[in-house]
Amino acid sequence: MVKYRRSNWLNRLLLGLGCLVLILITQVSDATTGKTLIVATEPVFPPFEFQSLGGGLQGFDIDVVNAIGQAAGFQVKYQSIPFDGIIPALKAGTADAAVSAMTITPERAKVVSFSRPYFKAGLAIAVAKDNETVKTLDDLQGKAIAAQIGTTGAAMAQKIPDAKVRTFDSAVLALQELSNGNVEAVINDAPVTQYAIKTGNLQDVRVVSQLLTEEYYGIPTALNSPNLELINRGLTTILENGTYAQIYRKWFGTDPPPLPTSAFTPSASATEPASLEALKVITNALPTLLAGAVITLQLTAVSVLFGLILGSLIGIARLSKTLPLRWAARAYIDFFRGTPLLVQIFMVYFGIPAVLKGAGIAFSFDRFAAAVLALSLNSAAYIAEIVRGGIQSIEAGQSEAAQSLGLDAVQTMRYVIFPQAFRRMLPPLGNEFISLLKDTSLVAVIGFEELFRRGQLIVAENYRPFEIYAAVAFVYLVLTLLSSQFFTRLERWMDPVKR
Ligand code: GLN
Repeated sequence: MVKYRRSNWLNRLLLGLGCLVLILITQVSDATTGKTLIVATEPVFPPFEFQSLGGGLQGFDIDVVNAIGQAAGFQVKYQSIPFDGIIPALKAGTADAAVSAMTITPERAKVVSFSRPYFKAGLAIAVAKDNETVKTLDDLQGKAIAAQIGTTGAAMAQKIPDAKVRTFDSAVLALQELSNGNVEAVINDAPVTQYAIKTGNLQDVRVVSQLLTEEYYGIPTALNSPNLELINRGLTTILENGTYAQIYRKWFGTDPPPLPTSAFTPSASATEPASLEALKVITNALPTLLAGAVITLQLTAVSVLFGLILGSLIGIARLSKTLPLRWAARAYIDFFRGTPLLVQIFMVYFGIPAVLKGAGIAFSFDRFAAAVLALSLNSAAYIAEIVRGGIQSIEAGQSEAAQSLGLDAVQTMRYVIFPQAFRRMLPPLGNEFISLLKDTSLVAVIGFEELFRRGQLIVAENYRPFEIYAAVAFVYLVLTLLSSQFFTRLERWMDPVKR
C-alpha cells in the first residue's frame, strides 16, 4: 500500500516535470521560428481593439499589427492593460510595443518612440440627441464633460475654461455617463463614438459634426527601441501591398485616406528628456495629493457614519425574535459581504440611473452621494456583524439583572448592554474604518477625484508611476496610522478602569 502511494506520487512528479520540459521546448522553438513581440493593448475601444464574444481580441488595430508581424516576420503576443498604463509599461520594458489607437503627440513622443502613422482620426464632441445648445467647443465652457483618463480627449476637455471634467477608466464608461445624463458632453475619438452609435450600443447620443482635431495613431515602443525599425518595415509593406487598404475596408467600409510618413516634424531627435529628480516629482504632486486626501477623509467619515447607523440596525435585527426580520438582515449581510465592492459601486452609479431611465424616470446621481451610498451599504454589512458579536458577547446575567431592576427591553439595551458591548466593538470597528478608508480608492472608477484618482491623473501627465504611487501609498499610510492612533485613544478613553 505504502509502495503504491509512493509510486503514484513519483508519477505525478514525473508528469509535472514532463509538462515543464514541454513548455520550455515550445518557448525555445518559438524563439527559433522568429521573434515574439509583446504588444500591449486596452481592448475596450471598438472598432480598434475589443474582445469578441468568444473572448479573443479583434479590431482594426489587431488586424493591422497581425499583418505587420506577418510582413516583418515576428509573432505577436497581446497583453491587455489600461490605456493610462501603456506608456509606463513601455518605459518599464514589460511590453515591447503597444497598439491602442494611440495618438502621436509631441508630449508622448518625448517618452516613447512612435512608428509611422497608421490611422487618421480626430476628436469629436458627443452630446445627448435632444441637445441643441452644444455646437462648438466654446459652448462647453463651464459644463460637465466626461472623457477617458490619459487620452487626448481628456487633455482637450481640461483646456476648456471652467469645464468640470470627469475622467473614467474607459471611453465606454465616459459614454455611459453621457447617456445616463450626468454630463453634458463626452470628448472622444470620433470613429469610436460613431461606431458605438452605429452598432446601436449607444442610444440617444449624437456626434457634433465638426471634428475638433486631426490626429494620427502610431504604434509606440520604448524610446529608440530596436523593434521600431521592424515595425515600420512591416507597416510600410502592408501599406504598399494593399493589405492595409483591405483591412481598412473591412472595418470602415471605405477606402483609406492617404497617410503622411510622419505625424509632425519632431523638434529634435528623440532622446530621454532630462528627467526631474524623484523628490521634485513628488513635491510637485503633493499639494494635489493632499487635496485628494481631504476628500478621501470626508468620504470615509460620512460613509462610516451612515454605515454605523444602518449596520447597528441590521445587527440588532439579526438578534431579533422575529424570524423574517432575522432572515432579511442575514440576506442583506450575505449579499453585501459576498459581492465585490467594486461591482456594487458600478451597480449603484451606472446601474441604478440606467434602470430608472429605462423606466422613464429621469435621474442623475451626484457622485459624492453615489460613492457614499455604495460605501455605506457595503460597510453596514460588516458593521452589522461587529454589532451582533459585541452584543452577544455580553453575559445573559447582565440583562437579567437589568430586568430585575425594572428596566424594559429598550432601556436594558440602551443603558446596560450597548455601552459595554460598544467597548468590545471598538477594535473591530477600528479595523473596519481603516479598511473603508483604503476602499474609498475604488470609487476612482466613477471618476471621483479622491486621493488615488489624483495620483492616476498626475501619472497620466508625467508618466512617473513609481514616484507618484509611492507618494499616494505614503499618504494613505499616514491617514491609516492616524486613524489607528485615534481608535487606540478612544478605546482608552472609554475604558472606565484605565481612564
Ligand atoms: N486616441 C486617443 C489618445 O491617444 C484615445 C486612445 C484610447 O483611448 N485608446 O489619447
